[in-house]
Amino acid sequence: MPAEYSKPLPVPQPESDHYWEQATQGKLVLQRCKDCESARFYPRVLCVACQGRDLEWMESAGRGKLFTFSIVHQPPHPGFREDVPYIAAIVELDEGVRMPSQVIGIEPDPEQLHIGMPLEVAFEHVTDSIALPKFRPAAQ
Ligand SMILES: [Zn+2]
Repeated sequence: MPAEYSKPLPVPQPESDHYWEQATQGKLVLQRCKDCESARFYPRVLCVACQGRDLEWMESAGRGKLFTFSIVHQPPHPGFREDVPYIAAIVELDEGVRMPSQVIGIEPDPEQLHIGMPLEVAFEHVTDSIALPKFRPAAQ
């Protein structure tokens, strides 16, 4: 964990406190609606499919596929100056949920990346209370 983290940090909200707590334990959790059984990212107070309020947490296997990506060359914030170029991505989890993240552990080179490549979650612990879910290439 870096002594000082210079990038913007997520601010947990009441509906996402559990998500962030689990992330520090290395677990990726998703909300699922008990009424229509749809899962989603990010945590909300209502089901976006049926407006139901009876939501539960499920643990994701943390595996998915690269849905789309972009290689970022211009740092969106001074804290990212040392990171560019990096791979911003949408990952489609095996649970059917798409989440924005970053692909790590592979060169930010379009020749190395392909849509549908298998990925697995890898948490980056950036402070005592925040771990960010990123994704690295997984074995097929
Ligand atoms: Zn629902």
